[in-house]
Amino acid sequence: MATPSTIPPQTLAKQSAIVVGSGLAGLSAASQLISQNVPVHLLERSAKPGGNSIKASSGINGAPTKYQPVFDDAFYSDTIKSAGKALFSMVTHREKLISTLTNSSASAVSWLVDQKGIDLSNVAQLGGHTHPRTHRGAGQTPPGASIVLTLLKFLKESPLFNLQTSCTVTKVLSAGSRVTGVEYSCENGEKKELHGPVIFASGGFAGDAEGMLAKYRPDLAGYPSTNDPRPGTQPLLTAVGAQVLDMDLVQVHPTGFIDPKNPSSPLKFLAAEVLRGEGGLLLMDGKRFINELDTRENVTNAIMKNPSSSNSPKQWEIKIVLDEGVYNAVKSHVDFYMWKGLMKITTIEELGDGALEAVKRYADAAAGKEKDSLGRTSFAHWSLKDPKPDSVVYAGIVTPVVHFTMGGVLINEKSEVLKEEGERIEGLWAAGEVTGGVHGGNRLGGSSLLECVVFGRIAGDHCAEFLKGNQGS
Ligand SMILES: Cc1cc2nc3c(=O)[nH]c(=O)nc-3n(C[C@H](O)[C@H](O)[C@H](O)COP(=O)(O)OP(=O)(O)OC[C@H]3O[C@@H](n4cnc5c(N)ncnc54)[C@H](O)[C@@H]3O)c2cc1C
Repeated sequence: MATPSTIPPQTLAKQSAIVVGSGLAGLSAASQLISQNVPVHLLERSAKPGGNSIKASSGINGAPTKYQPVFDDAFYSDTIKSAGKALFSMVTHREKLISTLTNSSASAVSWLVDQKGIDLSNVAQLGGHTHPRTHRGAGQTPPGASIVLTLLKFLKESPLFNLQTSCTVTKVLSAGSRVTGVEYSCENGEKKELHGPVIFASGGFAGDAEGMLAKYRPDLAGYPSTNDPRPGTQPLLTAVGAQVLDMDLVQVHPTGFIDPKNPSSPLKFLAAEVLRGEGGLLLMDGKRFINELDTRENVTNAIMKNPSSSNSPKQWEIKIVLDEGVYNAVKSHVDFYMWKGLMKITTIEELGDGALEAVKRYADAAAGKEKDSLGRTSFAHWSLKDPKPDSVVYAGIVTPVVHFTMGGVLINEKSEVLKEEGERIEGLWAAGEVTGGVHGGNRLGGSSLLECVVFGRIAGDHCAEFLKGNQGS
């Protein structure tokens, strides 16, 4: 194994790059830096690395890839469409970010599969996508965990990688308009400083219910979330002049499980979008009410226009229903949810009044006997042709949950953090959910892991270039 002393000195950057956050964006940036012989000091606030990235369950978008070889030029237009009205401002800037995201998706997936050996061989179609392009593995391990744990394993093999957990960055240090490092404190509370260029990959603020969420979206106070409660970090960057945008654009995911054992818990487990993507349907009071493959925003709005079943937390009771065919396609997910008591095997009769009729019509549309009245055209693995009251189905109860913050610090396509006037802040890059502008008003499922890999790697490359350029100074 190479050690710093065995790496030729001309290829080894003298100073470490500082990466803040050990989710997928931070790990992608760190991997890229290490691949260029740049030492990395990664600071992570939690005791365990992985952030929200390790929880990701549906997958990562990419097109074309070896598992999605169909020429797919609609990824860019799907993203633009999903971004919606947010695109009315800073149009050119946003379009550049979106084309960087979608044009780099093939190489991002190939990097994970071909260079890191991660299995992403299953491809599903999620809401808002006109083609299947969300990749996950065929085995039991959810995609977030398999990607994060593999990247971490590779990084830990490098002597250039220094990971410190339970250490929170409290301030970004600067001299004039240049970022020079960070102040941080670990478990004993003592403040320390690290000097070097900084990549911020500190995630979003969906779990900061009492702080940033309450400030930017007070209407979402009281909603449950899929994110752990933790303060958002954009203020550390605005303190050195970073511009933020889209801070009020918060994604509410339509399906977080209501745990029958603890229905009023504010922290919900996500019911992965792939359940609907692979053929699952939604029932409200025994009726379908939306094309389940519509965007998250539209599915959520269709639920929330009805009276909630509880105000503390604010939630609705929607049934998510899979047949045997869909179950087999997402077996690892459903087995896990059943093990956690969030889904159960039941019969259509048990789903309550109206369900049999709704499931029959869905099955007829899936079999091509009639057009779906809600406009759904892909039924993926749905296989039940003649639903009966005693037909076996898999079901759980779900509700909308605060899930993802589209807003954050403004970056350009080099992942450089920009000031109000649009100039870059020297020595500072950002990637992942801490940034804003890549998704507009609505993030497509699978595009967050993608943004972490794409912009994280770009940040790593540019930071390495910066350090090597400063080598002699
Ligand atoms: C349950 C769930 C399922 C999801 N499924 C998918 C999916 O299938 N596909 C998809 O594309 N997206 C999915 N998402 C969204 C996606 O996982 C996240 O948006 C993405 O992983 C964010 O990655 P990140 O690296 O930007 O941040 P994170 O993974 O959240 O990592 C940020 C890290 O920074 C650390 N940190 C924060 N502040 C500091 C500080 N001051 N000092 C030191 N460390 C700090 C945090 O502790 C954290 O570990 C899902 C999200 C959730 C919650």
